[in-house]
Amino acid sequence: MDTEEFRRLGHELIDWIADYREQATRGELPVLRHVAPGTVKRALPAAPPAGPERFDAILGDLNSVIVPACTQWLDPRFFAYFPSNSSLSAVLGDYVSTGLGQLGLNWQASPALTEVEEVVIDWLRQMLGLSDAWSGVIQDTASTGALVALICARERATSHGATRGGLQSEDKPLVVYASSQSHSSVDKAALMAGFGRTYVRSVPVDEGFSMRADSLAQMVRADSDNGLLPCAVVATTGSTATTACDSLAAIASVAREHRLWMHVDAALAGSAMILPECRSLWDGIEGADSLVTNPHKWLGASFDCSTYFVRDPEHLIRVMSTNPSYLRSAADSQVKNFRDWGIPLGRRFRALKLWFLIREQGVSGLQSRLRRDIAYAKWFAERVDAAPQWRRVAPVPVQTVCVRHEPPGLSGEALDKHTLGWVKRINESGKAFLTPAILDGRWMVRVSFGAEATEQRHVEELWELMQAEAARGG
Ligand SMILES: *Cc1c(COP(=O)(O)O)cnc(C)c1O
Repeated sequence: MDTEEFRRLGHELIDWIADYREQATRGELPVLRHVAPGTVKRALPAAPPAGPERFDAILGDLNSVIVPACTQWLDPRFFAYFPSNSSLSAVLGDYVSTGLGQLGLNWQASPALTEVEEVVIDWLRQMLGLSDAWSGVIQDTASTGALVALICARERATSHGATRGGLQSEDKPLVVYASSQSHSSVDKAALMAGFGRTYVRSVPVDEGFSMRADSLAQMVRADSDNGLLPCAVVATTGSTATTACDSLAAIASVAREHRLWMHVDAALAGSAMILPECRSLWDGIEGADSLVTNPHKWLGASFDCSTYFVRDPEHLIRVMSTNPSYLRSAADSQVKNFRDWGIPLGRRFRALKLWFLIREQGVSGLQSRLRRDIAYAKWFAERVDAAPQWRRVAPVPVQTVCVRHEPPGLSGEALDKHTLGWVKRINESGKAFLTPAILDGRWMVRVSFGAEATEQRHVEELWELMQAEAARGG
């Protein structure tokens, strides 16, 4: 393909994307479509094309094979998982990123890639109301952030044991703590960082599903008394099931007393901290060692864009750095080499999508959209609270409302069956998409607001639909 052809096809493709976005954000496609497993694979040839194909053929398959097997994350009736918006300005920023073909191995390999990232991550720090004691870097996901954090914790607790015999030659086993509501990626990170299942503790939660700091303190003390080395605690601001926010100040004080590394997983709810009125949800954040938020969720950056902040970048660099001869440059003492701030060597120009998004929306634009979504959740929660037979099963700190329809006489497994029944009927209708989850051993339904295209009428229609489907019983 030459640039003239690219120019022509690129324009066509932008039109195609714009058409898709119009369709999706008007809710013209089923939000969740029934796709039988294997449908896409069967529609595509198993072997690669021997010769070049026409671009038209590729576009044709996009329409006939790809789009029909996409779940419409951008649909105004998408209330599942968490919002992931891919705002159009971020889409363009990502376009530029691939178009420029930059690969950040070190500063010299793309000074712009490194320095835009530094600038934009510091903008985000200010937007989140964090002090200037924090420095940040863009990672792919919060899962990677948790892994990096726990590796840093391990290395701090062992005074860089990896440079000797690693965990295999430590005298005392190291222990990691997280609440029973923490994300599965935390558990996975602890296992991958070598702590071992035996030494990953699940701390109980209170009635609002926040970690009990008193239980944490007790568990840490008991482990210490038993000859173990408490190493790290992962707290959550906005848990996956209910967006519960742990009390960071109380956890930080336990962490300080016992020299635990404190990592805060604010993957979803971190975005809300651009609103000053939400910041009390993470009071005590300055006491943490590391923190992750995902601008690729609610904020609008297209996936993947996860921001990892640390208070001690020197420690991070010491743990993550490699310094092969071919990557050294004269500028090294004056610049940041982000390869030393995480796991991959090669880095994409991810900062561009965030830069485009923040500039095009302005802080105020992003703030008003998030405030709108919080208002939807509040409106919805009030309806649930006022409706007979409906129960809100968790507090609503941000934009997710967790509900159950509890007709008289139904409990236990019969109630679970009822819950899964009405939510399945809604999802199969293509008129809305909700995700059920287990809370305290019982199924409930999460209603997660935040798709860019959602208007008040969609929120009202959802409530009507839920009442109608739940009333059908069965
Ligand atoms: C979404 C989410 C994650 C996982 O995010 P990835 O970036 O996909 O790894 C982790 N923790 C919480 C609280 C989340 O909401």
